[in-house]
Amino acid sequence: MIGSVTGCKRSNRVRAFDVVVGITLLVVAGSLTTRAAFADALEEDPVTENEIRAHATYLASAELEGRDAGHPGARLAADYLVRELKSYGLRPLGESWQHAFPMLTVTRYAKSKLTIAETTLEDRAVVTVPAFSGIGSRTAPVVMSTESEVEGRIVAIAAGENEREQALEAIGRGAVAVVLLRHRRVFDTRDVGRHIFRPPIDLEAGPAAWPEGVHDSIRNLIPLSVPVVAIARRARIPVLEAIESGIAVTLEVTQIGERRSTNVFGLLRGSDPAMRDEYVIVGAHYDHIGLDGKGEVLHGADDNASGVAAWLEVAEALASSEERPRRSILFIAWGAEEMGLVGSTAFCRRPPIELASVAACVNMDMIGRKAPDVLHVAAASDDLRAATVAAARRHGFALTSEGDPFHIASTDSHPFVQRGVPTVALTSGLHDDYNTVDDTADRLDIDKIARVARTVLALTRHVGNADARPTFTARPASDR
Ligand SMILES: [Zn+2]
Repeated sequence: MIGSVTGCKRSNRVRAFDVVVGITLLVVAGSLTTRAAFADALEEDPVTENEIRAHATYLASAELEGRDAGHPGARLAADYLVRELKSYGLRPLGESWQHAFPMLTVTRYAKSKLTIAETTLEDRAVVTVPAFSGIGSRTAPVVMSTESEVEGRIVAIAAGENEREQALEAIGRGAVAVVLLRHRRVFDTRDVGRHIFRPPIDLEAGPAAWPEGVHDSIRNLIPLSVPVVAIARRARIPVLEAIESGIAVTLEVTQIGERRSTNVFGLLRGSDPAMRDEYVIVGAHYDHIGLDGKGEVLHGADDNASGVAAWLEVAEALASSEERPRRSILFIAWGAEEMGLVGSTAFCRRPPIELASVAACVNMDMIGRKAPDVLHVAAASDDLRAATVAAARRHGFALTSEGDPFHIASTDSHPFVQRGVPTVALTSGLHDDYNTVDDTADRLDIDKIARVARTVLALTRHVGNADARPTFTARPASDR
């Protein structure tokens, strides 16, 4: 443990007090945090806390609706990143700043409406779209699935288990749409179609290449040919009345997202003609998981607006620096990480640069919470780990190994490690607000994010300039 100042929660309100405490400790205990802060203040520090706060606040704002891959909020986030990278003077990779990749599904990819005479059901609290729904609008009378004749009808199913199989069976008998009558809550976690696949699934390779056991979890995400909605118990009366009277009902499922997303690229060409075809990748995923079952925004401020804010600051700092690293630095903001590392896996499967030319991959995911001195470093390279640890210690971090195996396997580092690329992943770790509505920008430790950015900046300079490339270490290792 280093000086007790690192145990304080930092905020603007206590900053003046902090500095006083820090100076005292500099004299008394030689706090690493304070020394680094002083050094940064003396040099010109291109990493600024105000910019980090502004980036994170925008990315985690309600306007971006949780940056769900395939949804408008994620596109707004990607466009914002491109504007920033352009303004720093970086270049796109090849022709474009964003490279698209396909996804099996998108979360919450549709909205639904059920019109029964004068009644319209469209509130998410009473009507939702299961992940396997098709898209479209149908008008027809409604019958229960227990009827023998369902041809040309909308079929109502008493839902529960095997909903997709039951719907498929009704479609086979001629149903034009399906209404699932749910017993309890209308929202089912399976509706969002969000699965973290471990190991990540290579969608382009097709089902034959998928690991065993994956097909079952994926089957529920494959869209049917007709629209399907699920309705809450309290909304079923108008449906039952429609069944009784035989009137035509209109069921609509409208797509609001796309089954594709993008990775965002910014390239800083290396200064050394002999080394500029080698790359250091600096990455952070910009997507999050959208809305919760009640339609509330999951802001994803720590996960991972924090990492992206630091990523932008590192990009800006290196682009504006007079001394460019000798190797090229490739900044990549990953898309669709939350669906199972889809963007980074797509990159590694069809890399726009030779993977053999990647000297190192540095990734940040969730770096803005927990105690100020806590930073986990998971590396698939002893050299990279040593360089990361040295840089992190200079910026006030006492490193811990806790959580490493989870982290390196559950973020965009993973596909690189699988392919033998020297990789390091930085995180401050999981917390109670993870994937909840409370992961908001005001709870971020901006000072901590800035120190991670400075750590990554120093590390990137080091790896970008060193004569020798880091070597790959097969077993992810950690340091404390
Ligand atoms: Zn994350």
